[in-house]
Amino acid sequence: MFHTATHKEVKEGLVTDIYFERTKKILEAKGIDLSVRAEFMAHGFPSNWPWAVLAGVEECAEVLKDLPVDVRVMREGTIFGIKQPVMEISGKYLDFGQYETALLGMICQASGIATMAARCKKAAGKKEVISFGARRVHPTIAPLIERNAYIGGCDGVSVGLGAKLAGIEPSGTMPHALILLMGDTVTATKAFDEVIEPGVRRVSLIDTFNDEKIEALNVAGALGKKLYAVRLDTPRSRRGDFVEIMREVRWELDLRGYRDIKLLLSGGIDERDIERYNVLADAYGVGTAVSAAPVVDFSMDIIEIDGHPIAKRGKRSGSKRVLRCKDCFNTRVCSVKEKPSRCSCGGAEEEILVDFFSKGNLKYPLPEPSEIREFVLQQLNKVELYC
Ligand SMILES: [Zn+2]
Repeated sequence: MFHTATHKEVKEGLVTDIYFERTKKILEAKGIDLSVRAEFMAHGFPSNWPWAVLAGVEECAEVLKDLPVDVRVMREGTIFGIKQPVMEISGKYLDFGQYETALLGMICQASGIATMAARCKKAAGKKEVISFGARRVHPTIAPLIERNAYIGGCDGVSVGLGAKLAGIEPSGTMPHALILLMGDTVTATKAFDEVIEPGVRRVSLIDTFNDEKIEALNVAGALGKKLYAVRLDTPRSRRGDFVEIMREVRWELDLRGYRDIKLLLSGGIDERDIERYNVLADAYGVGTAVSAAPVVDFSMDIIEIDGHPIAKRGKRSGSKRVLRCKDCFNTRVCSVKEKPSRCSCGGAEEEILVDFFSKGNLKYPLPEPSEIREFVLQQLNKVELYC
């Protein structure tokens, strides 16, 4: 048995903190069955992120569709800020309270991954970013990691099941194992070209035995124009001045007419590395930075009981609207009693926390992963990487 919960166990509310189970038991024993409104909000972001990307909404829908509750949520892929409610659930507390642990887990982790993918893509601009980090997480959640990496902005993912969930073809190069087993880089690259179907890009890994420059020229000589890229996975221990290594490889390839052969970087890359290398690199394989991204610390808080505003210390009571200017992206939170109006820039405000479920009925069709990704990329033009 793997040490994971089954989908059935999650949907039955069995993945829950014991104190929610005990709360349920006490409320039932005392005959307290009140209607509440609860909101999901992050009060801070990891690593001083100025914003995050909401993800995990589709999985929440899988839980919420069977519950007699009303739900408002930001569209999956929305870029949001701290202290903005991203989801609001209304219904009997006894009907959904025990799902707090699972719902939070779904959006906290997925949003962290989607945000890191978006940050890497923002840093890379038009250059490609591929998720290679499935190996850093438990295999049962690898498809989830890849799907959220893709919707956050990654151009490709390496695991077939993850790619299927994202609705794309998987991407990959070649492992050091192939080169070690075949004896040298040129032999392995030629064998790849002979055996693998023509539609797959030929990307040769050039740091196994020799200097990157020598290996790059060897494989370029062997495959010529068929070679799409060379991949530098240079270990950190050997890296030295990585920008200089890339400049040298680029120079030698260009000098011999291989201007079209791209440079793909991998190995412990994050958004700061991408910013540093982006003048020279053409594509990136990102691993741990995305797959083991910090989680977004959402909490669920009761904000209304039986129609009366109430909240714990430090939290604002009552149902809220999140209004975003269509022109300048300025976003504000107000009471649900206030209506959208004009932003100070003159643009029209629109509500971004919108109806999602009413007693098990979905209010709009769930978007395809490619649509969510496109939505993220549009918004990325309007935000900066740092505060
Ligand atoms: Zn505005």
